[in-house]
Amino acid sequence: MNETPPRVHAEIDLDAVRGNVRALRDRAPRSELMAVVKADGYGHGAVACARAALEAGASWLGTATPQEALALRAAGITARTLCWLWTPGGPWREAVEADLDVAVSGMWALDEVRAAARAAGRTARIQLKADTGLGRNGCQPADWAELVGAAVAAEAEGTVKVTGLWSHFACADEPGHPSIQLQLTAFRDMLAYAEKEGIEPEVRHIANSPAVLTLPESHFDLVRTGLAIYGVSPAPELGTAQELGLRPAMTLKASVALVKEVPGGHGVSYGHHYVTPAGGTHLALVPAGYADGIPRHASGRGPVLVGGAVRTVAGRVAMDQFVVDLGPGEPGVRSGDEAVLFGPGEHGEPTAEDWAQASGTIAYEIVTRIGARVPRVHL
Ligand code: PLP
Repeated sequence: MNETPPRVHAEIDLDAVRGNVRALRDRAPRSELMAVVKADGYGHGAVACARAALEAGASWLGTATPQEALALRAAGITARTLCWLWTPGGPWREAVEADLDVAVSGMWALDEVRAAARAAGRTARIQLKADTGLGRNGCQPADWAELVGAAVAAEAEGTVKVTGLWSHFACADEPGHPSIQLQLTAFRDMLAYAEKEGIEPEVRHIANSPAVLTLPESHFDLVRTGLAIYGVSPAPELGTAQELGLRPAMTLKASVALVKEVPGGHGVSYGHHYVTPAGGTHLALVPAGYADGIPRHASGRGPVLVGGAVRTVAGRVAMDQFVVDLGPGEPGVRSGDEAVLFGPGEHGEPTAEDWAQASGTIAYEIVTRIGARVPRVHL
């Protein structure tokens, strides 16, 4: 679906990714860094961002699904890669043969990976995941002894090697939340038990981006950073990207499709939730909509830099387009002019964090939901 020139496109500044990885490594100097590139690199392009992160000192990659990890291998990336979101019958054998590190949260997964390793005639690299309080994936403390015991037995038979012990925070983006220390304590206990039973992991890890930025005691051997490597702040409470020393990598631009003068009292977009002011105005049509990942919840609120000023989405965001009101005077904007929806914020443009606020969501969702039909241009 190549549109030339593109009506909307995302520029991805790989230098920014490299700079962010270096900045995060400085924050966790004694730990290795895993660049989390799931969901197509949080919408930034997994392969290009993985390469940039590795160039800047990341030594691990992380994905949710095994398919995402296998796609990195297919692109020729050989770095250590952990994938953690498995369902029964998943591509364990392909993962073992591709030298991926695979997460194991329960007995069914251990059984499947052992069988795959036997079939492949290889030793599978597994990382046991503990549920220290997130209540999502991972093994409950009550089931840990059984899983660790089975993993020790599997190591003895040569089908697996436990390369990592790990967990994930629930509330790291809320510094001081009581669950953080409880999770750290549970993690230390579960580590101590596994190591007492003879597991010798290469890496122990629990920290995501907010924990890397705010909680040095959580860094252990490895930090798993996603959003921050793309230069986006994990939460407004932690500061803006700029305040955190990060540089947003994605700039989302559209080419204004149409500028026209309309009289006052003119309804704009579906539902007529915006009506032009008395005396008339100029409207600009921005050809990007919710099918491109522009949140419909930003209707009437999303900010856009166009014609040298930040304007607001007028009325509803539609599937492929939305409108901004340029005001009554000479608009100074023509068809084909650039509209910047978000970027680093260095030239007056809004940021992904601004769009998150305007849409009542988190910046993670803004960047990862930019649609597949929006070309990514890597700079
Ligand atoms: N680790 C796991 C298991 C995750 O699911 C994620 C993302 O949600 C991350 C690490 C990276 O988190 P963040 O983007 O906050 O750095």
